[in-house]
Amino acid sequence: MFEQFDLDSELLASVKKAGYTKPTSIQELVIPEAMQGKDILASAPTGTGKTAAFLLPIAQHLLDYPRTQPGFPRVLILTPTRELAIQIGEDSEKIAELTNIKTGVITGGVNYGSHSDILNSTTDILVATPGRLLEYIENEQFDAREIEILVLDEADRMLDMGFRETIDRIVGEARWRKQTMLFSATLEGAGVLRFSKEVLNEPVFLES
Ligand code: AMP
Repeated sequence: MFEQFDLDSELLASVKKAGYTKPTSIQELVIPEAMQGKDILASAPTGTGKTAAFLLPIAQHLLDYPRTQPGFPRVLILTPTRELAIQIGEDSEKIAELTNIKTGVITGGVNYGSHSDILNSTTDILVATPGRLLEYIENEQFDAREIEILVLDEADRMLDMGFRETIDRIVGEARWRKQTMLFSATLEGAGVLRFSKEVLNEPVFLES
């Protein structure tokens, strides 16, 4: 039952509307720890419900601590591909449907002008692929210093695709964040664990 988590009624209603009757095992593990603000290292492949596992605690944080003034996004979700970014953006809109939380998606493969709305308006949750986001940071169109929560989704794939340096730059920009969550299908490759040690602070390790 999603009611076991301390989520606002708007979020519980969205979960119900999405047809989720009971939490998946990764959701059972991640949601309570993430709601305490802890860093998370989770081994969870696609299909396990990992997206809602990080989106629900994020949405609850934004409801608990509403914005006091307009500004840049407060949550950044980095994911390897455009398709995944779009999917996470849709899931986020669904979860936040009954709230005033705003989601934006930035990816490569679309023209630069199409992101001006996201960069110039108050977006709370930004879902992005690393390459295009770094371009906006370097052009000073995006400022990551207001990021409170950072999610590294499918971290193994991002590293395999050669995004390590790009992510390091973005993570450095988001240095004032309070919480980081790393999700990876596997933690077996040496790269992910080493990387996790650099970006996570005393993480809880969770495996679906
Ligand atoms: P994900 O692993 O986040 O890509 O989610 C895989 C699929 O499971 C998506 O289609 C979700 O909408 C769905 N899903 C996520 N959580 C639940 C849940 N608790 N019950 C049923 N379906 C879910």
